[in-house]
Parts: sequence; structure tokens; C-alpha cells
Amino acid sequence: MFISLDGIDGAGKSTQIDLLRAHLESQGQTVACFRDPGSTKLGEAIREILLHREDIPLAGTAEMLLYMAARAQLVADQIRPALDSGATVICDRFLLANVVYQGVAGGLNVDDLWSVGRCATGGLSPDVTVILDLEPEAAATRIQRGADRLEKRGIEYFKKVRLGFLEQVQRASSKSLVVDASGSIDTIHSLIRTFVDAQQVNR
Ligand code: ADP
Repeated sequence: MFISLDGIDGAGKSTQIDLLRAHLESQGQTVACFRDPGSTKLGEAIREILLHREDIPLAGTAEMLLYMAARAQLVADQIRPALDSGATVICDRFLLANVVYQGVAGGLNVDDLWSVGRCATGGLSPDVTVILDLEPEAAATRIQRGADRLEKRGIEYFKKVRLGFLEQVQRASSKSLVVDASGSIDTIHSLIRTFVDAQQVNR
């Protein structure tokens, strides 16, 4: 099973991925966790450019294609092999985030992004997508480190991102869950765990 967690930075993705991983491992599953962009040599190099190399100007389409290239490598090197070996894959973000950040909020054509995304992923999509839904103001108070290239885009951009996730999530996976991420860590984990367990029973 391929599970993706998404939502704006600070919504709690890393926290919930760690908890879900521990839960699934306690059931005896082999779990492989990745981040998109990242988790391959190429993906981490692209991630560094996308988030931290502000000395390298990026046109919107070039930025979008770098995310796609990182994802293509991630699918080929990591996700496909892990799924083929029988592991459960949990990914911190996937194609949906690209559609939302660069398309809905960034102004690129959303249908084009889904279509380029199909090419980049070879048609692989998460079985389950979980959105951690949080107001950008609340997410910002949780982030302690300095802002990266994307985080500097301001609150109006992130409001569009938040709505974009809600609007596009059904195109990301056949099964999706939107969780109110303002609740306690335990409450959110319990909702995600229950949902994922139910999907596994249904498979
Ligand atoms: P993300 O991976 O989405 O950027 P993190 O999991 O790194 O988010 O969480 C960002 C910060 O918010 C961390 O300090 C984390 O401990 C805290 N945090 C995560 N979930 C919650 C929550 N439900 N309530 C309050 N703080 C949280």
C-alpha cells in the first residue's frame, strides 16, 4: 500500500508519519518512508535548489519540472521497488503538492500538472492520501526554523494552497482523508490510523 501525507509546512506531516510508521510496524509490516522532493541522490540535489538556492532564479515552469524530475527518480529508485518487495510506503508529499503549490496557488495550469505528473510517475498514484488541514497562521507559529524559498511566499499564497489541497485531493487518490490538524497529536494519529487500517482491511 502507498500512503501519502500532505498539507502546508507545520501542519504535522513528519510527526504523523513517524507515528503511523510505528503503528504499521507494530502490526508486522515493513514500512519505507520517503520525502518528495528527496530520498534519492538526484532528488536531494533538486530539493536543495528548490528550497535553499535562492541565488538560482527559477521560472514557474522550470520549478514545476524540477519537482517532477525529482519525483520521477523517487518512483523509479525507491517507491516502485519498495512496493514490489511488499513494503508499505509512506511518502511526505507527492504529486498533489506540486499541483497545489505550482498550479492552484502558483498560477500554472492544473490539468497540465496532473498530466505531466502522470508521465513523471508512470501513472503511479498513492492508494491513500491524507491531508492535514491547518490555517496558515497556526502552521506558521509551529515552525521554529528560518523560512525556505517557498515559505517566504506569504500568507495569501498559503491560503490558496490550503484551499487547493481541499479542492484537488480527490484527483490524487481513490481514497482520501482530510483531518483537522489543529487537534492534538494523539487525536490526529488515531484518526489516521483508523482510516489506514480500514483501507487495508478493504484491500
Ligand atoms: P510538517 O512536517 O508538516 O512541517 P512537523 O511534523 O514537523 O510538520 O510539525 C511542526 C511542529 O509542530 C513540530 O514542532 C511539531 O512537534 C509540532 N506539531 C505537530 N503536530 C502538532 C499538533 N497537532 N499540535 C501542536 N503541535 C504540533
